[in-house]
Amino acid sequence: MKFSIVNEHKSEALPKLKGLCPHCGAEMIARCGRVKVWHWAHKTKEVCDPWWESETEWHRDWKGHFPVEWQEVTHIDPITGEKHIADVKNSHGLVIEFQHSPIKYEERCSREEFYGKMVWVVNGTRGSLDESYFNMGLSGPIQKDPLAYQISWLSRGKLLHNWGESKVKVYLDFGKDIIWRLVFFDSTNKIGAVGPLPKSVFIDDCLKGTEISVSKLDEDE
Ligand SMILES: [Zn+2]
Repeated sequence: MKFSIVNEHKSEALPKLKGLCPHCGAEMIARCGRVKVWHWAHKTKEVCDPWWESETEWHRDWKGHFPVEWQEVTHIDPITGEKHIADVKNSHGLVIEFQHSPIKYEERCSREEFYGKMVWVVNGTRGSLDESYFNMGLSGPIQKDPLAYQISWLSRGKLLHNWGESKVKVYLDFGKDIIWRLVFFDSTNKIGAVGPLPKSVFIDDCLKGTEISVSKLDEDE
C-alpha cells in the first residue's frame, strides 16, 4: 500500500519507517527496495483486503493526480460491515479503481456491486500487443455526440471481452494523453464502440466531482 499511519498521519513509505494499517490497524513496515515501488506491507500477513492488487508505477502515477485524503480510502458497506480499500474516492463519493492485472469476472462484479458509484481505469499496456490491435481495429466515427468510434477486435487477447460487460464506466489507458471509454463490446462478433477522452479532462472532472465528460464533434465536422 502507498500509505500507512505514522504518528497519526497518512504517510508514504520511507526506509526503516513503521506504521499502522489505515484499514485494519495492524503493524506495517516500509518496504523500500530497488525493484518494486516503495510501499507498506503488513508485518505478519499478506494483505488485509483480498481485493488488493500489488501496486505498480502505473497505479502510483494515477493516484498521484488526486489529493492524499482521497487515496486508499476504506469503504464500508453500512449494512453488512464489509470493507475494502478504494484506490481513490473523491469528495462526491465516486470510487475510481485502477486495474493493472486481469480480474476474474466474479470479482469484477462484486467490486462493482460493493462500490456502486464507481468507474474503472484499466491498464491497456499490460498485454504487449493489445495497443497495436486496438489502434488497428479503430474505424469511424460512428457517432458525433458523444463521439464514438467503431472498434473491431482482431486479437485473441481478452482486454475488451473482459471489460465489455461491465455495468459501470470503463476507461482504457494505453499510456497516452487520450484514454478510451468502452461504450460497449459484443464479444460474439468482436465488435464494439469506444469514445476518446483527454486524460486531463477525466482527471479534472473527477477532481471537481462533476459528471465525467464525453468528447463531441460539431455537426459540420
Ligand atoms: Zn491492513
